[in-house]
Amino acid sequence: MDVVVVGGGLAGAAAVGALRAEGFDGCLILIGDETLPPYERPPLSKGYLRGEETEPHLVHPEPWYAEQDVDLRLGTRASRLVASERVVELEGGERVAFDAAILATGSRPRRPPIPGLELEGVFDLRVAGDADRIKAAAAGSSRAVLIGMGFIGAEVAASLRHLGLDVSVVEPFSVPLERVLGPILGGAIASLHRDHGVEMIFGDLAERFDGAGRFEALVTRAGRRIEGDLAILGVGVEPVTEIAGPEVEVGNGIVVDETLRTAAPGVFAIGDVALHDHPVFGPVRVEHFDKAIKQGEAVARNVLGADEPFADAMWFWSDQYDSEIQMSGYATAWDDMVVRGSIEERSFAAFLLQDGVLRSTVTMDWKLDARRSMPLIAAEARPERELLADPGLDLRTLHPPKDAT
Ligand code: FAD
Repeated sequence: MDVVVVGGGLAGAAAVGALRAEGFDGCLILIGDETLPPYERPPLSKGYLRGEETEPHLVHPEPWYAEQDVDLRLGTRASRLVASERVVELEGGERVAFDAAILATGSRPRRPPIPGLELEGVFDLRVAGDADRIKAAAAGSSRAVLIGMGFIGAEVAASLRHLGLDVSVVEPFSVPLERVLGPILGGAIASLHRDHGVEMIFGDLAERFDGAGRFEALVTRAGRRIEGDLAILGVGVEPVTEIAGPEVEVGNGIVVDETLRTAAPGVFAIGDVALHDHPVFGPVRVEHFDKAIKQGEAVARNVLGADEPFADAMWFWSDQYDSEIQMSGYATAWDDMVVRGSIEERSFAAFLLQDGVLRSTVTMDWKLDARRSMPLIAAEARPERELLADPGLDLRTLHPPKDAT
């Protein structure tokens, strides 16, 4: 059997690792358009941006690919998938035949058409080179302007404050991460950044970047002019779906069923690009490090003949200053929130429930409960509020029996 993996990021690297670990000894090709071997992105907004880590953290050491007989094609872009012929076309014309193709093309930063986006000194952050450029610009700067305060914006704000820059952020919602965490928990993130001296301007939008060839100021919809030496855009990502071609369905991502299969025979999708029909949450596309690895492992088993739904409750973390935020599950709406600890003191676990079912857990400087919630979320459990609220209660005592999860 010949397997081709398109996308040399975390999910693609996890998939090739898992295929070999599962004993697959057929032809295995990993095609990636970056020049670095697959590496981990989380440090790019954290330790790597702050200069505490000087090398990108590789998923597998570089020699691993040759040792494992993985044909790693770096700096190579796949231009088209012809699913009916089971072929991936590469830029330059080479055609790579496959029995199974795993699409792991990830996501890219959104770039809304804001005038002045092309000015020198305006950045976004996805690849190691972006972090290098921001780091270099920050070194000679005293003031940064950030657009958007999702997880990337919040982490970059924290890292730039650590480097001694003044930081202003413009964010359309009323708190950071409001869409993901809601106003109350987002308020805890706002208070964290306020305590660290970040100027946050809520309810306003970037109208244009001003400067004579180089960024000088952001002008907002409300008419504010915020001067700075560099600007960083953090307004979310979009899935990189161009590879899919007309034969593979694309929505807000490449559409896959519970087992990570597209409707085209032998074609799978994983990681940030996959719009996955999750057995608990329905169709979701999430951008989590841990999920990218686990989907890589799951797809390897399914390529090799298993038929396992990917039912992981999904876990995410974010480091900002000395605080760690964790999140498990997935909820876009909830009608009840039960809290352990104190939101005001920024040490809590918040359990988000809909119709009594635990959908997601968000923690801040509160060890264990995000992960310990995962079996409850996966089982769509209805834990009693008093038990959830009791910080002395170990959530594992509420877990369903193993064979029921
Ligand atoms: P990607 O990492 O995007 O990899 C896809 C690769 O495919 C890229 O190299 C891309 O260039 C390549 N590619 C695309 N199209 C083609 C093509 N046609 N041909 C060849 N190659 C192609 N998650 C967390 O859980 N916690 C964190 O703290 C966290 N921090 C983050 C910080 C930053 C700065 C970023 C950017 C992300 C962070 N994430 C974090 C998210 C996490 O890193 C992603 O969810 C994860 O990298 C997704 O992996 P992926 O392999 O699906 O996609």
